[in-house]
Order: sequence, then C-alpha cells, then structure tokens
Amino acid sequence: MRRLAILLLFVSASAALAQQIVQTNLRKSLRPRWRKVMFPDPGRSSLIALEQGGTFEVIEVRKGRVVALERIDPAEEHLLPGPQPEGLTVLQSDIDEDLAVFKAKGSEGAYHSVAESESELKNLVKRYPALCRLESIGKTFEGRDIWALRITGAPDPAAVPRLLIFGLVHAREWMSVELPFFVINKLLTGYGSDPETKKLVDSRCLWVIPIVNPDGLAYSQGQYTMWRKNRSKRASSVGVDINRNFEVGWGLGSSSNPGSDTYRGANAYSEEETRALMALVQRERFTATLGLHSYSQLVTFPWGKSSEDPPGKETLVRHGKAMGQANGYRPGSVAQILYISGGGTNDTFFSKCGCWSWTFELGTEFVPPESEIQPLCAKNWPAVLYLIRTLEELGSTEHPFAVLSH
Ligand SMILES: [Zn+2]
Repeated sequence: MRRLAILLLFVSASAALAQQIVQTNLRKSLRPRWRKVMFPDPGRSSLIALEQGGTFEVIEVRKGRVVALERIDPAEEHLLPGPQPEGLTVLQSDIDEDLAVFKAKGSEGAYHSVAESESELKNLVKRYPALCRLESIGKTFEGRDIWALRITGAPDPAAVPRLLIFGLVHAREWMSVELPFFVINKLLTGYGSDPETKKLVDSRCLWVIPIVNPDGLAYSQGQYTMWRKNRSKRASSVGVDINRNFEVGWGLGSSSNPGSDTYRGANAYSEEETRALMALVQRERFTATLGLHSYSQLVTFPWGKSSEDPPGKETLVRHGKAMGQANGYRPGSVAQILYISGGGTNDTFFSKCGCWSWTFELGTEFVPPESEIQPLCAKNWPAVLYLIRTLEELGSTEHPFAVLSH
C-alpha cells in the first residue's frame, strides 16, 4: 500500500514536471527570434521606414550595404508585416545561439547581474569612503534602485568639470555594464598608485551609472536574452525603449506601436528611468555625458533626430574623432552614420542640459564571450580617459545650448 502511494506520488510529480517543461518550451517558442541580415542600402527614407516598423534594428550602414537585426514573428514564424528591403541575405539565422554558453550554465557568468552590481558598488563605497558616494537616483517600474556612483577628490565637486558615464539603457547590451565598472576600478585603484589618475580625480567629478535599466537587465539575464526595453506595464504591451523616451526629437525614428522594440512610450518621460536620468543631469549640470551601448564600434554624437549638422558641430566632431582614434571606432552623428533616432539621451542632454554628449556602441556583439570582456574594456579605456582629460577644455568651450540657471 505504501509502495503504491509512493508510486502514485512519483507519477503525479513526473506529470507536473512534464507539464512544466511543455509550458517552458511553449513560452520560449512564443518569443521573437532575431536573425542577422544584410541588404543593399535602400536609401534614407526607406531605412527610416524599416526602423520605424520595429522589425529591423540597423547595426551598420557602410559602402552601400546595411547590416541589421530582423525580428521574426514568434507565433507564426513568418515575417512581420511592414516594409521589406530588397536583396536581403541572412548572415546568421538566430543570434541567440551566441548565448548558448550562458544558457547552459544557467547564469550570466562573468557579466554583472543586477544584484552583483549593487553589492559591488556598496563595497566600493566602504573601501574608498573619501572618494565615493553612492546614490539611488530613482526607482524603476518594478521597484529596483538605479544606482549612481560619484567619484571625486575635489573639495567642491560643483566647482570642477563633471562627467556622467551611463550603461545598460538597453537590456540586452550586457557589455555596456562592464566598461563602467572597469572605469570605476581604474580610477579608484589608480588614485593611490598613479599620479595622473590622482590629479584627474582630484580636479574632476565623475559620475558612473553602470545600469540605467535594471528591470530590463534582470529580465534579459533571467528570462529572455534579446529583450531591449524596460519592463513597465502601462498599456496592453510591455516595455518602452528608454532611448526613444526623452524629449528632443521624441516621435522621430521610433515606433508608436507598444509591441515594437523601439516603442517610444505614450509621451516623452513616461518612464521612471528616463525621468531619473534627466533629473540627475539637470541637477548636476554635467560638462559632458557618455552613454554606453552595444554594438557597432561607433562613437556617436548629436543629432540623432535629424541628419542636419548641429550647432557646436566642430567640438562634437573633433573630440568624437579623437575618441574614435583611441578605441578604433568610427565617429559620426547618429542620423548621419546610422539612422534617424529621436528621443535619445545625446540630443536631449546636449540641447536641453548644456552637456557635450557622446555615445559609444561597444564591440561587435550584444554579449561577447566572457574572455573578451576585459580586452574590450581595455580597448575602450583610452577613449574614456581622453574624455576625462578633455573635460576641463570642454568646460571652458562655449556651448551652443548653454543652460544659464536651473
Ligand atoms: Zn542600445
């Protein structure tokens, strides 16, 4: 009798497990698949239409050819409605395959998770109390803190040039968390051993936000790697593209469809992350901002909202080129070298907050193999160092949208 009870228990447990597996597989099969494709450049207006459709994310436009990621409808495995480029060839049928190593391990490996990032930042403040201050600049939709670390040895941080470095705006761009930590460690460990680092830290105020979108990162690392947006639930669909939710150029080069990966939100600043970041930038009046994304090996600057030249172009181009020389990346305005993308951080911080603003598109993958994290950071460190060194000059350069008072 007892043996029968155990057998029955076993059978029902197996059935429950089997059901769970079926459900997990079903959930997986409902997710969009992303493939990497290439096609002849169809021209600017067609490219904008492709981007706005939400099916394509353009990675590179060069020598008359476009490399892009294409989202495949999960339920029916057919192409989403919308414009299709001609002459499309598939380079890789499922870019999620690159992440098999993390799936097998069931963890994010050498990459920072949200919890690891938080505890590392708290430990750094304990270890370097004279140089570091940690601040939660706001809470996300799911209630996570957005942490910002301030590093300075200046007696009056408001009187020295100020830089903001921020990563992980887009959930799947894990690499953009690693460079901020690399920079933090370079500055703090170098302070005691390298005279130039000490001089820079003592004469500047450096803010670092490794993760702007912790809800998105947690979801990307735990549920669905290719997630891009945040995780706010306000309409029928989930998530807004934070880098299309700022005010300058809001609505241009983004989607009004909540299901799209470049959904701009119901209005500018509809998102917690957008408001938190903007409030910090307005409060601290940064001399310069550096946004980190992946990937494409680019150094970008305003405008994203239009392909016209911005006022102050000379400064943006000169230092953009110098940083591009330092990390080997191609410099250019977003709209001129990629596509129109309005509502982004660069344009808004530049023209509403009086900051000189650049963005790095790191590397050649969203999540490079773990062994490439350190080399990629080391490759980009000289470009970040250039910007830190140049802050003083930028602070005394006349800004076309100088903000006189707050
Ligand atoms: Zn991005």
